[in-house]
Amino acid sequence: MTLTAAPETTSAYDLGPARALSCRECGHEVPLAAEFACPRCFGPLEVAYDFPKVTRASIEAGPKSIWRYRDLLPVPSTVQEHRNTEPGLTRLIEADNLARALGVRKLWVKDDTGNPTHSFKDRVVAVALAAARELGFSVLCCPSTGNLANAVAAAAARAGWDSVVLIPSSLEQPKIITTAVYGGTLLAVDGNYDDVNRLATELAAEHEDWAFVNVNVRPYYAEGSKTLGYEVAEQLGWRLPQQVVVPVASGSQLTKIDKGFTELGKLGLVEPTPYTVFGAQATGCSPVAAAFEAGHDVIQPQKPDTIARSLAIGNPADGPYVLDSVRRTGGSLGHVSDAEVVAGIRLLAETEGVFAETAGGVTVATTKKLLEAGKLDPDAETVLMITGDGLKTLDAVSGEVGPTATVPSTSVAVREALAKRR
Ligand SMILES: *Cc1c(COP(=O)(O)O)cnc(C)c1O
Ligand SMILES: [Zn+2]
Repeated sequence: MTLTAAPETTSAYDLGPARALSCRECGHEVPLAAEFACPRCFGPLEVAYDFPKVTRASIEAGPKSIWRYRDLLPVPSTVQEHRNTEPGLTRLIEADNLARALGVRKLWVKDDTGNPTHSFKDRVVAVALAAARELGFSVLCCPSTGNLANAVAAAAARAGWDSVVLIPSSLEQPKIITTAVYGGTLLAVDGNYDDVNRLATELAAEHEDWAFVNVNVRPYYAEGSKTLGYEVAEQLGWRLPQQVVVPVASGSQLTKIDKGFTELGKLGLVEPTPYTVFGAQATGCSPVAAAFEAGHDVIQPQKPDTIARSLAIGNPADGPYVLDSVRRTGGSLGHVSDAEVVAGIRLLAETEGVFAETAGGVTVATTKKLLEAGKLDPDAETVLMITGDGLKTLDAVSGEVGPTATVPSTSVAVREALAKRR
C-alpha cells in the first residue's frame, strides 16, 4: 500500500502479506526479521504489506477468531494449523443504558474481557507467537504490567513453548497467580515497569532464541491490535464508527486501531468515512495526555502512581504516534483520577453488566470527562474499548462494594433489611 522502494532481498520468511519492515520516521525498509529499530535513524520499525485481494465474504467465511483477518496480518497463511490460542470476535455490546447515563445518542462497548486470558493482550500475543515461530524462535517472553504476562504464559503453554515473563514485583497478586498457573518462568523484578522493560531489552540481545513479544518482535505484535478495529467495523455491519475511545499505555493499541480503520477503507472493505480517535489515561500516569494538553510533540516521561497498573507505562514507546493519530483525526486525550476510575468501573457494571478492570474504568471515566468538556460529540456514534476483566483487579473495588446487609436466615430479617435499604 505504500510507495516506498522494495527491499533489496526478498524475504526468507512466509509471513503472509507482510513484505518488509519499514521505519515510521524515515521510511527506510529492511527485510522481515526480528528487528525493531531502524538501522539508519533508530526509529521504530513497522510491518509493510502487499495485501492480496480480500473481500468481506472471504473474511466472513474464515474462523470465528482473529485468524479470519489473517490475510491482513504478518502471519503465515497456515497459522490456524498451529497450536495457537484463538482470541478475537469478542462481543460488541449495544450499550443503551450507559449511553443514557452519559447523555450520548448511540454507544457500543467492545468487550475484550471475552478473550482466552480476559484481556485484549491475547490478540497481540497470538500474532507475535505466529511470527516468532516463523522467525525461528522457541521461547516466548515479555516484560509486562500484568495482562501481557497472562497472555504470554498461556499462549506458550498451549503452543508447547517455554516462556520467560518479567513483571514488576509490586504487581497485583491476582495477575501474578493468573500468570504462574500456566507454568513457565515468572521473574518478579524489583523495579517499576520501565526498569523491567529495560532489562528485557538487554536479555533479548543476550538470548538468540528468546522472542520478547513487545521488544524484539514488537512490529509483529503491534499489528495484532488492528484486529480490534477490523472487528468493530465488521460487527457494525462493515462500517466505521464515528468516534472511538481507547485506553493508552504504550500507545500501540490506539495507533493500530487507527491503522486498522484506515486499511479497511483503502482496501474497499468499508466506506472510508471520517472517524475521531480519543485516548484515555489515568492522571497518575498520563504522559501522553499531558503532552497533548501542552501542545508538545515530545513525551515527558512520568513516574507512574495509579491503581490502573495495566496502563502504568511512564515512558510510552508509541506516545508520539498516539499524538499524531489523535491530532490527525481531530480527537483528544483525557485523564482521570483513581476515584474516577473506580466510579467508571461501577458505572459500566451497573448499566451494562460488564465488569471491567481499572483500564476499563479509565476509558469510561475519561469518556464522561471528554463529553462534559465538549470534546466528544454526544450525537456521534461512539465505541468504547473495554480491554480487560475486573476479576483481575478486585482490589480496586473491594473496599467500595459488598453485601447490602448481612442477615439471619428469616424472612422478617430480609424484610427489615429491604426496608432499611429504601
Ligand atoms: C496493555 C493494555 C492496554 C494498552 O495497551 P498499549 O497498546 O500498550 O497502549 C489497555 N488495556 C489493557 C487492559 C491492557 O492490558
Ligand atoms: Zn529510519
